[in-house]
Amino acid sequence: MKQLVLLIAIIISFTNCKQENKKSENNETLKADVQTFLDNYTKTFTKLYYDSALAEWDANTKIVIGDTLNAYNIQKANEALAKFTGSTEVIEKTKAFLENKSNLDLKQVRQLNTILYSAANNPETVSDLVSERIAAENAQNEALFGFDFKVNESSVSTGDIDKVLRESNNEKERLENWEASKEVGKGLKDGLENLRNLRNETVGALGYDDYFTYQVSNYGMERQEMLDDMNKMVKEVWPLYRELHTWARYELAKKYNAKVPDFIPAHWLPNRWGQDWSSLVSVEGLDIDAALKDKEPEWIVKEGENFYKSLGFEALPTSFYEKSSLYPLPNDANYKKNNHASAWHMDLENDLRSLMSVEPTAEYYITVHHELGHIYYYQAYTNPEVPPLLREGANRGYHEAIGYVFGLAASQKPFLVGRGLIDENAQVDETQNLLKEALKYITFLPFGAGVMTEFENSLYAENLPKEEFNKKWWELAKKYQGMIPPTERGEEFCDAASKTHINNDAAQYYDYAVSYILLFQFHDHIAKNILKQDPHATNYFGSKEVGTFLRGILETGANNDWRALLKESVGSEMSAKPMLDYFEPLMVYLKEQNKGRTYTLPDTL
Ligand SMILES: [Zn+2]
Repeated sequence: MKQLVLLIAIIISFTNCKQENKKSENNETLKADVQTFLDNYTKTFTKLYYDSALAEWDANTKIVIGDTLNAYNIQKANEALAKFTGSTEVIEKTKAFLENKSNLDLKQVRQLNTILYSAANNPETVSDLVSERIAAENAQNEALFGFDFKVNESSVSTGDIDKVLRESNNEKERLENWEASKEVGKGLKDGLENLRNLRNETVGALGYDDYFTYQVSNYGMERQEMLDDMNKMVKEVWPLYRELHTWARYELAKKYNAKVPDFIPAHWLPNRWGQDWSSLVSVEGLDIDAALKDKEPEWIVKEGENFYKSLGFEALPTSFYEKSSLYPLPNDANYKKNNHASAWHMDLENDLRSLMSVEPTAEYYITVHHELGHIYYYQAYTNPEVPPLLREGANRGYHEAIGYVFGLAASQKPFLVGRGLIDENAQVDETQNLLKEALKYITFLPFGAGVMTEFENSLYAENLPKEEFNKKWWELAKKYQGMIPPTERGEEFCDAASKTHINNDAAQYYDYAVSYILLFQFHDHIAKNILKQDPHATNYFGSKEVGTFLRGILETGANNDWRALLKESVGSEMSAKPMLDYFEPLMVYLKEQNKGRTYTLPDTL
């Protein structure tokens, strides 16, 4: 009997073992199938992606008036790419593979998720809906970019309006310009409602609850997690924002010779949405324009590259210099180029390019360092460990954050002294400088992480009725920014739609908030833990340790969990604390300035 039990036990364990073997064999077959699928997908995808990038590159670097070839080539290339990424075959296979994701390698799962994310924007399964959405997006863009802004019956550009809002002390003129800037929203309201529905339905075909949820999924997060994270960021900076808000109410009332208001009328601020207040102060002392005036533009680009090389990064490939478009066109050129600076990873391999129009100015000096940050990010994650489909920033906010880190590093005094661009004894008003920076970074968060994020969540995930678009927008502006409309803004307006991103870069505005937060987390870590320098006065130049630290972040691309990567690199979760630490001296100054003044924002949000 005993022997029989033993025998049975042996038989059972033997069968189990056999089953285990069979299971792992099945698993290996599955993984091999997935890999074949991924390899084939990648081959076609990278070719079509390169075609599309080349067409876009031509259209941005060689603009000939009246020529329609560029537009035709772009449309053809993008259609081919969309047709492939959204094809039913790709979707079905990816979904089926993902049903077994616990049996796959993590790297495979990440690639499959990327494929599904790309597919969801143009699934062949609902091709009519996709065509309708693309047509609606084009119509919305035309209405937005073709709008004739008018002040006192004369046409003005948005640049003209911005200049008035930055510079004018005449309240009446400011109000006219601000109101003119919002007129565009009226004609975009129906289109926005329509686009909301079409975007929700398109991604719904692949199982996403709504378009906001879909966009957030790119971070590997649920919608509520993102909302909670963004809310936490605003809460963290709130005490400092409250000081800035109080300071601005009193300073602006003085400037316009008006009674101090409880909430800031929107036309008082130097930006159409109140998202950047930095032009309220000017700072003297850190002027490198004079030193750059006699330099060649080529010197500035080389100087940027030298900085990266000093950290231990490689020289840029020769093709970068051959293929990029780095300088303004000669006066006699018979074509134009886009002058907005950008960095391109053309083929997801080694064709790296930048589009700039570098001139010997301080602004371009910072821009070169920023754009090369993107280029070195591309170069770092183009390695055999990171498959082409994962050659992206760790999340959408990372890429900008890295550019910002290098831009900030290249603007601090000890760095500039080290590069021979300013005198060591140059006097800089540190407090005003810090105030100016806070009016850019801190004031952005209530807008970016608060108003924009909450509005778009409400629009897409909560189906905000069209009759409440404007009411909601201004409720949020009052709550988060402490800002109110100068005059009654009923539902005949759609002030949210005056913001470009609401129309054509939907439901991902929190990316910018994430970038600013990460910028200070990285910079704080580098300054305090690696360089052992004051974060307000650093010089990264020549530090191989800084290079090693940054390479660790850059070279994994999107082949990671970005939150784990952040924790590994700076030792904490996403947090606004380093940003607050940076502005700590300003808090002291503002409290002093605001002594005896009335605060109208609550203590805590
Ligand atoms: Zn950038």
